[in-house]
Amino acid sequence: MNAPSTAQTATHVIVGDGITALAFLEHCDLRAGETLIILGKMVSRFGRGMAYAKGDPDTPWRYAYLLNSPADDIDPAFAAWLSDRWDNVSDTMSGRSPDWLHAAAPLVAAGDIYGVNAPREFYGDFMEELARIALSRLEKRGVRIVTLNDCVTSIAPAENGVVLKTEKGAQISAESVDIAPGGPSTMRLAGDDGTFAAPSVFGQEPRIAEHIRAGAEIFCIGGNAAMLDVLRLCQSLIPNEDIKMVVCAPDGDIPAPLVPRLPRKLTKPTLTRGHDTAKSFLSEIEDEIASARRNGDEMREIRAGFRAHFLANPLNLYLADLDEARQVPSKLRFWLRGGTRDTILDMHRLVGEGRVKVVPGLVKSVEHGKDGATVYMRDPSGGEFTHNTGFVVNCAGAGPNSRYDPLTADMLAKSVIEICPVSRGIKVGAVCQTTLPGVRYLSPAVTEIGEEPIAMPLYDAHMLRTYAARANGLG
Ligand SMILES: Cc1cc2nc3c(=O)[nH]c(=O)nc-3n(C[C@H](O)[C@H](O)[C@H](O)COP(=O)(O)OP(=O)(O)OC[C@H]3O[C@@H](n4cnc5c(N)ncnc54)[C@H](O)[C@@H]3O)c2cc1C
Repeated sequence: MNAPSTAQTATHVIVGDGITALAFLEHCDLRAGETLIILGKMVSRFGRGMAYAKGDPDTPWRYAYLLNSPADDIDPAFAAWLSDRWDNVSDTMSGRSPDWLHAAAPLVAAGDIYGVNAPREFYGDFMEELARIALSRLEKRGVRIVTLNDCVTSIAPAENGVVLKTEKGAQISAESVDIAPGGPSTMRLAGDDGTFAAPSVFGQEPRIAEHIRAGAEIFCIGGNAAMLDVLRLCQSLIPNEDIKMVVCAPDGDIPAPLVPRLPRKLTKPTLTRGHDTAKSFLSEIEDEIASARRNGDEMREIRAGFRAHFLANPLNLYLADLDEARQVPSKLRFWLRGGTRDTILDMHRLVGEGRVKVVPGLVKSVEHGKDGATVYMRDPSGGEFTHNTGFVVNCAGAGPNSRYDPLTADMLAKSVIEICPVSRGIKVGAVCQTTLPGVRYLSPAVTEIGEEPIAMPLYDAHMLRTYAARANGLG
């Protein structure tokens, strides 16, 4: 690891240390004598990023957080990697709570290790291994590689490319740059950080754990994947019989579990082109989903089938009008919601036993009392109500007041990338180009690439890696 000096020059720079930055690195085509600089906040663990971080060995919740889909839906190469190390995986996971091996047992017995919801840290191990291979390939070729633990704060055009500035005061001139800084922060709500509330689950586990262990009711704002992680956190600390959880989600629904079946099958949508409106195209999609269900397809097959379909047949093939096409993804996101099999099945069981309650509504604010919090909510018909609880965790995901990392904020302010007026996500040019020549940008927050509104969210490792490959003319 090199220490930052104030002025450096690179042929190419990669900003970010997650799976998207790694996908750019894997396609990086530098030659002997050229310099690559990689900058990230955890660059020593390049390839993991935020979601697949290395856990702390002393915590009960290490390995508790799982991937949201079967291993081979994320990447068949990862599923093979996992299967090859099954003995090590079993050793690591034995005796842990929740009992992941027990939940995986029916799949393992059916010879379907590829179908398990692996702990996210294992996917990070796999990605870190791919990163080492990619870096050593470039090093063997004679490329000079510099890695900097630093945060890029701005980018501006310069004579032979661009100049980047960092938090630690480095100034880097580069001919080209790939930027993969991850998505924006969770949206914040009044009172979500205090004595009885945490603004997120990640990084806040020790103080949430204190309340779980003390027997407090845990209230989750939002019913998405982070809420499922809160359930896993509870299960790592106390028996299921002692769990007390309340989840407030806009529709009061828990996403469908993505259950793998053998032989694997994908729904194959047949959709007609030439739609004039989002309404007519969505109505056709709704019929296709209903027909897939009638044929016995489950959400894993439907969701993975539509994802494969739209990766091969972009949305703009069906709906030429850009503003109409931009209205499709939010509905698709809702209709094709799915998540971690193990946790969602546990969740349903705990709801049945009355240990977890799901409340339809939107949280407005949290107020802290002497020995707990009061949550202020609005129900789907607009009525206001409150709930007194032990400890609140904000699992709301990105929203209107989310914040981007400093470089993304700078690029938006300079119109190097744009916000899409309909999705409120980020819009980049064809093959992820920005308005600065040689500078590309890709993150889960991107909703439009060139003239293509992305049909399904890029908060998906397989999708991100596919679009990064496409930006390099592959895939
Ligand atoms: C908790 C969580 C769980 C998820 N689970 C799944 C899952 O099970 N399956 C799935 O397919 N997807 C999942 N996702 C979606 C996920 O966003 C993608 O799969 C993927 O991790 C995104 O990778 P990325 O490299 O684009 O971003 P990130 O993983 O966020 O990595 C970006 C990195 O860049 C660094 N960075 C940011 N700004 C700067 C800057 N200005 N300068 C330098 N460095 C910077 C950040 O610190 C971060 O480490 C999950 C996401 C989260 C947050």
